[in-house]
Amino acid sequence: MTDTEMFCYNNSIPYQKNLSTKSISTFKIGGLISLAVYPLNADQASLLIKFFNSNNIKYKTAGNCSNILFSDENTDYVLIKTDNMNSLVVDNERIITGAGNLLSKISTTALKSHLSGMENLYGIPGSVGGAVIMNAGAYGSEMSQIIEETEYVDCMGDIRIVGGDSHCFGYRHSCFSDKEIVTKTTIKLNSGNYQNIREIMTLVIAKRKASQPLEMPSAGSVFKRPQGYFAGKLIEDCGLKGFSVGDAMVSTKHAGFIVNRGNATSEDVKKLINIIQSQVYEKFGVKLEMEIRFF
Ligand SMILES: Cc1cc2nc3c(=O)[nH]c(=O)nc-3n(C[C@H](O)[C@H](O)[C@H](O)COP(=O)(O)OP(=O)(O)OC[C@H]3O[C@@H](n4cnc5c(N)ncnc54)[C@H](O)[C@@H]3O)c2cc1C
Repeated sequence: MTDTEMFCYNNSIPYQKNLSTKSISTFKIGGLISLAVYPLNADQASLLIKFFNSNNIKYKTAGNCSNILFSDENTDYVLIKTDNMNSLVVDNERIITGAGNLLSKISTTALKSHLSGMENLYGIPGSVGGAVIMNAGAYGSEMSQIIEETEYVDCMGDIRIVGGDSHCFGYRHSCFSDKEIVTKTTIKLNSGNYQNIREIMTLVIAKRKASQPLEMPSAGSVFKRPQGYFAGKLIEDCGLKGFSVGDAMVSTKHAGFIVNRGNATSEDVKKLINIIQSQVYEKFGVKLEMEIRFF
C-alpha cells in the first residue's frame, strides 16, 4: 500500500487503483491513473488537500469528465473524483446539492419540485461542480444566474463559502483555481408550472439531438465562442468538417465538436486542434481558445 492509499484507508476515504480515464471520460480517450480518490464530503476533501500539500503530491479534480481530454500516458497525479459528494436537499425554492450530482439529476429534481430555472441546462452532461467551475450554459441560461452560494475547499485545505456575486463568473469562467475543490452549491430557482418546465426540457433535448453529434464520444465544444463569431462556423468555413487525424474527426454535424470515431488518442486530438487553430487564424485572423481542459 502507498502512503496515500494508507491515508485514505485510515480516514475511510474510498479510492481506486489503476482507473482507466478512457472509461470515465465522455471522449473515451486516455491512459490509466494510478490512484483516484472519492471523498464523501468537504471534510474528507479538506483532509486530502492537507495531506497532498504536506507530502508534495500532485492532484487534479474531476466531475463527470465531460470537458476533459485525458493524456494517453499514465499520469503522475492523484485524481480527486467528486462522484460521492451527492447530497441533495430541496428547501422551498432552493436546491442544495453536492458537487458530484449530475446537472440532469438537478434538472429533473427541479421539475418534480415545480421549480423553474434549470430547464435550459438540461442535457449538459456535467456534474454540478464542473458546471460551477465552467459556468456551464446553454440556450441563454448559465449557472451564474441561479447560484446563491458555493462551499469549496481552498488550496490550503480550508473549507470556505462564497456568495453568488463573488464567483467572478464570466463566459465559461469562474474564480476557482485548479487547486480548489467545489464540494456543494445552493441553487435558487423560482416556482413554475410543471407542464411548461417539462415542455422546455423536451424541446431543449430535441434541439441538442438535432444539432450535436450525441451518438459519438466527444467533450462538447472544443473551443470557446470567440467574440463576434461562432467557432463551429469558422471551422466549417475553413472546409474542415469531417477532417480527421487518426480517429479524431471534426464532427460533420457540428464543426465545433471533435468526435472520437473509435480509437482516437489524445495526441490525435491535440494535432487536430493545432491544425484547426492555425487554419482559422490564417483565414480569419481569429485565435480559437480552448474550452476543454487537458489533463
Ligand atoms: C455532448 C456534450 C455537450 C455539451 N454541451 C455543453 C453545453 O451546452 N454547455 C456547456 O457549458 N458545456 C457543455 N458541455 C461541456 C461540459 O459538459 C460542461 O463544461 C460541464 O460543466 C463539465 O462538467 P464535468 O462535471 O463533466 O466537469 P469535468 O469535465 O470533470 O471538469 C471540467 C473542469 O472542471 C473542474 N472540476 C470539475 N468538478 C470540479 C469540482 N467539484 N471542483 C473543482 N473543479 C472541478 C475540472 O478540474 C476541470 O478543470 C458539453 C459536453 C458534451 C460532451
